[in-house]
Amino acid sequence: MNSRSNDNTSNYSFSELVIASSNSHKLAELRMLLPDEIRLHDQSEFDLQTPEETGLTFLENALLKARFASRATGLAALADDSGLAVACLNGAPGIYSSRYAGEKASDLENCDKLLERMSLEKHRHAHFHCSIVIVRHWQDPDPIIAQGRWHGEITTQKQGSNGFGYDPLFLPDQLSQTAAQLDAVTKADLSHRGRALTQLKAWLVNE
Ligand code: IMP
Repeated sequence: MNSRSNDNTSNYSFSELVIASSNSHKLAELRMLLPDEIRLHDQSEFDLQTPEETGLTFLENALLKARFASRATGLAALADDSGLAVACLNGAPGIYSSRYAGEKASDLENCDKLLERMSLEKHRHAHFHCSIVIVRHWQDPDPIIAQGRWHGEITTQKQGSNGFGYDPLFLPDQLSQTAAQLDAVTKADLSHRGRALTQLKAWLVNE
């Protein structure tokens, strides 16, 4: 059964949403996707601290960030978490993807560390994962959860200059170009984030 707002400004169970991210690219993407009648707030409007990401999964960390933002603002909140999981490394770098080579590591340093770790590996399967969650209030027991995966292989050298993170090392299944050689629209269509966003959109139709 759909839950409906008890105010009359929105068809959704929330009419305002704080996005728990300071990444302007993600904010723009979400603004395009979410219905106009939901008023979006950038977390910078609230001077939010970032909570410690103590979860062991992408989903736990996304939930933790969303609950934290919701508690601090009193609004419904959306947060995401994503990263690369390499099969032969037991899912590393995983939730540590952005800091694989150290706390303030650059994308280049992270890629180089991964290449080095995998220098003798023949089995190079990996996937990107993205979890996006919305909590309607900070104690929401039934959050909206959307998740996407993008499967591929880790190459033996970096190729391409588009995108970010591990894109130059990620050769998506069925393609002959790395994620860093794809244009932004193609990547958004195929990627873990694109898939999670499509799922989120489907969820919101029923919200
Ligand atoms: P976040 O969830 O945006 O903080 O992403 C965590 C880290 O995962 C990024 O810093 C990247 O290293 C990696 N990552 C997530 N999504 C992608 C992607 O689409 N391409 C390449 N790397 C990604």
